[in-house]
Amino acid sequence: MRRNNFQEALEDPIFNILTEAAKELDVTCYVIGGFVRDYLLQRGTAKDIDIVVVGSGIELAQKVALLLPNNPKVSVFKNFGTAMLKHGAIELEFVGARKESYHRDSRKPVVENGTLEDDQNRRDFTINALALSLNESNFGDLIDPFNGVDDLEHKIIKTPLEPSITYSDDPLRMMRAIRFATQLGFQIALPSLQAITKNKERITIISKERIVDELHKILGSHTPSLGFSLLHKTELLPYMLPELVALQGIEEIEGQRHKDNFWHTLEVVDNICATTDDLWLRWAALLHDIGKAPTKKFHKKLGWTFHAHEFVGSKMVYKLFKRLRMPLNDKMKFVQKMVLMSSRPIVLSEDYATDSAVRRLVFDAGDFVEDLMTLCEADITTKNPKKQKKYKNNFKVVRQKIKEVEERDHIRNFQPPISGEEIMKIFNLKPSKEIGIIKETIKEAILEGEIPNEYEAAKEFMLKKVKELNII
Ligand code: ATP
Ligand code: MG
Repeated sequence: MRRNNFQEALEDPIFNILTEAAKELDVTCYVIGGFVRDYLLQRGTAKDIDIVVVGSGIELAQKVALLLPNNPKVSVFKNFGTAMLKHGAIELEFVGARKESYHRDSRKPVVENGTLEDDQNRRDFTINALALSLNESNFGDLIDPFNGVDDLEHKIIKTPLEPSITYSDDPLRMMRAIRFATQLGFQIALPSLQAITKNKERITIISKERIVDELHKILGSHTPSLGFSLLHKTELLPYMLPELVALQGIEEIEGQRHKDNFWHTLEVVDNICATTDDLWLRWAALLHDIGKAPTKKFHKKLGWTFHAHEFVGSKMVYKLFKRLRMPLNDKMKFVQKMVLMSSRPIVLSEDYATDSAVRRLVFDAGDFVEDLMTLCEADITTKNPKKQKKYKNNFKVVRQKIKEVEERDHIRNFQPPISGEEIMKIFNLKPSKEIGIIKETIKEAILEGEIPNEYEAAKEFMLKKVKELNII
């Protein structure tokens, strides 16, 4: 971590322009928040730069735009007293230093102008309240009233003021604390953790969109299980994903136990994060077992079963997305499909995988067959090294078979080798259900491997079959 040389953070000429503009307006200004934090953590230089102005943020933005060679457009958000401009890849966000006070039923504060210190007080975490001066007299000085640098060093998330008030004022901060802890691999200080648990019910005033935004960021991080276990520990999780909470716990009847599907799911999510950045595939991993809670049964002979949990789970995905106001589009359908098919490759890998079973898998999964394999490989969480090795190896075999079958039979995005129109022509038929039956018979023969996925073979087969079955 960096502890000095803050001037180096401000090497970009844009900072000198900020200094110049502030001087002309006779105000002071500072870089604050994520930019400073990420610079000190050596997480690269953020392109979003937050500037706090003791004075008008909007006026400073306009002045900066005038001083920049291409006079960029300033977007002004009058209601918030903020302004934004883009300079190359950099996005500058300006806000006037403010003092905030809150009402209980809203996360929108009453705002009045304040000092830099007031503004730092209203920040969510000590590590997000760090400011670097852009003023001529002390350019590059770090202003760190809450020892945020120490917290960065010790990897601690703490609020500048009393935690319970901070979280109750704006409960989104509870999600942000957990999200930053996950992204940065930090601990949340105990008083903060306790305050979050105490104020958990306050999360209900936060919009679904904002909650989902934070969930996306948690899922987008390197080890999402950190975040989900914190959501669980602070008892926030039931407010957003009760389906996951329902997976927690192990039951035992007649000496038979099932695994804890909540902790198993978190392992699967971490596993998949090592192999894919695809947010929706990560969602699929998170939700792949949610059907297990409502389908769980104990049978004297079979032990614990979760019959049709994949189907039930895929239906639950729709409800969950709808409730959280997530998009009900092709992304949702993708997650549903992954959940629905989540056991298929596993079944294949446990047994000898026949060509026809592999063809059916490729047919049903279409373009998503690789994603499905990735999900199922992540699902291997056995701690038994022998089994672990065996399953992994079996998946390798299945993958190889998928490749072979693909090369030979081109099943993915299957198009019938003989079109409905041609069938009508050959048999002199009008549109009717017989055409559907013939097409289905050809498709089945291809998937079963009776004939190759080719025109001539399909035609010959069709003529023979139609006669044999007396379809027409
Ligand atoms: P990143 O952009 O990487 O998520 P960031 O720290 O820049 O991290 P932003 O959401 O961009 O986070 O917010 C910028 C700054 O505004 C934060 O660093 C923090 O000082 C302050 N801030 C943002 N949201 C809140 C909040 N809900 N309560 C208090 N301060 C906040
Ligand atoms: Mg930011």
